[in-house]
Amino acid sequence: MGEFAPGGPPTGQSVLPRRRSLLAVAAGLAATAVAACGEPQAARPRPVQASTPVQASTPVLEDVSQRPVVPEKLPAVPSKAQLVTEFSGRKPVEWGLDVTGVVSKTASTHAVLTFDACGGPHGSDCDQRLLQTLRKLNVPATLFLNGRWIKANPGLAADLAADPLFELGNHGFQHRPLSVSGRSAYGIAGTSTAGEVYDEIMGNQEAMEQLCGKAPRFFRAGTAYYDDVAAAITRALQLVPVSFTVNGDGGATFPAPTVAAEVGKIGVGQGAGQIVISHFNQPAGGTAEGYARALPGLLDRGVTFAQLGDTLTL
Ligand SMILES: [Zn+2]
Repeated sequence: MGEFAPGGPPTGQSVLPRRRSLLAVAAGLAATAVAACGEPQAARPRPVQASTPVQASTPVLEDVSQRPVVPEKLPAVPSKAQLVTEFSGRKPVEWGLDVTGVVSKTASTHAVLTFDACGGPHGSDCDQRLLQTLRKLNVPATLFLNGRWIKANPGLAADLAADPLFELGNHGFQHRPLSVSGRSAYGIAGTSTAGEVYDEIMGNQEAMEQLCGKAPRFFRAGTAYYDDVAAAITRALQLVPVSFTVNGDGGATFPAPTVAAEVGKIGVGQGAGQIVISHFNQPAGGTAEGYARALPGLLDRGVTFAQLGDTLTL
């Protein structure tokens, strides 16, 4: 996915049917992408520019820079100025992986697998073997994409957006821990003001909205660290800040047997609801092999999996 099928419409069609066919394919592609981002299948397709030239042999993708603004979703999200005014005087009292307002577990009977793509010089690869395992076993997952990873992998990002097995979430613009006072985690400097929190979230939100055709509903900060004010800011921007229950791959550092053991702890039925964090941007690590070992046994035990959007609502 992510590009048009080769060949296009049958030869002998007039220019108009060919144009309609391409536009229909474009609309269908957009609708599929929307579905992968948590929108029902019947969601409206993206508008396609009527003036877009269509050439006989070259598929034409929509020029998103020319796309009209969709007005109905803009008024509800506060502007940066409004948000700074509301939050700049608030002092955080919590800092960590599980602070007030952050979701780390759901009430669902399903487990939620989440995989992050953190981007940056050492984090912009893609673990295709892991994705193949999920697809082969038909196990849904929620993928958190950082802005740097999307910029490095536009085609892959489009593929993932178009795959209904995956739901995409926002993993930040620069992969910074989310703080209003400059706290850091694992040596990574966090944001230091409400305005920087806004930039970290919304800097990637806009790119993901273009990718998915709809604003993502879930956000995970770089390192998954938040303070409580930053978590409240995330909510004010109509995103659910997400942490995790089970650390499946230790930041992609665990060897495969450890990944398999940690993921293998996922429970069944009532009391499940775990959110498992792992990574799909480190193919040299043990994550793919660990999941390949663990998932068949979990499925045999009756563990069921769902995307985050199927277990949480805003
Ligand atoms: Zn990350």
